[in-house]
Amino acid sequence: MTSSMHAPTQCPSRVGVYVCHCGTNIAGMVDVEAVTQFATSLVGVVVARHYSYMCSDPGQMLIKNDILMEGLNRVIVASCTPNMHEATFRNACTEAGLNPFLFQMTNIREQCSWVTEDASAATEKAKSLVAAAVKRVGWQVPLEMRQVAVKQSALIVGGGIAGIEAALRLADSGKHVYLVEREPSIGGHMSRLYKTFPTLDCAA
Ligand SMILES: Cc1cc2nc3c(=O)[nH]c(=O)nc-3n(C[C@H](O)[C@H](O)[C@H](O)COP(=O)(O)OP(=O)(O)OC[C@H]3O[C@@H](n4cnc5c(N)ncnc54)[C@H](O)[C@@H]3O)c2cc1C
Repeated sequence: MTSSMHAPTQCPSRVGVYVCHCGTNIAGMVDVEAVTQFATSLVGVVVARHYSYMCSDPGQMLIKNDILMEGLNRVIVASCTPNMHEATFRNACTEAGLNPFLFQMTNIREQCSWVTEDASAATEKAKSLVAAAVKRVGWQVPLEMRQVAVKQSALIVGGGIAGIEAALRLADSGKHVYLVEREPSIGGHMSRLYKTFPTLDCAA
């Protein structure tokens, strides 16, 4: 990814904040209305909404419409782990014409509703996470994806059992492998053992 800017400067933001219920996964513990109301008070936030499943098509439409109608230049979704739906929301931003790296996801499920027993504490934590995301997103800059050629070869240092196994797997996947061993022969510790636990295989 590349950016034309060397030293990022915080840009005047028009931020949209979208708080997901995730059914009862979040809304069962976090007061999503209170978090949404809180978000509207943050500097730079021009719209804040909550919805049952923000990752659904109607949820994504809320975001896309606001990008177009409200002129949003930053988007935050407060929901699950980015491992789950970061790509979903980045795509939604792209489809509405917003650079996907001007999107920020904050996790109020795994890191909040699922691990906090007290509802008011969970709500306060969700507010803090949203506030942090709003601060952060203002510093993000547009990035462009580009593809570069990758050399299809690998160097493995150490010809013990781990290095041998890695070398074989890489070679099987079509990579050219260089296996470097400092001793006169490969095998490492395994080559000194007679039979190994738990299978009693002959190590050599
Ligand atoms: C006494 C004993 C009994 C064991 N019994 C069992 C058992 O019953 N069952 C079992 O599963 N495991 C057993 N183990 C553990 C098992 O032997 C090790 O987990 C395994 O051999 C580790 O393999 P490795 O490739 O990670 O490391 P190593 O075997 O240590 O291999 C590392 C290799 O890298 C080379 N190397 C290091 N630095 C460099 C460098 N800078 N440049 C080039 N080459 C370098 C070394 O010469 C070596 O060949 C036993 C271990 C011991 C000591």
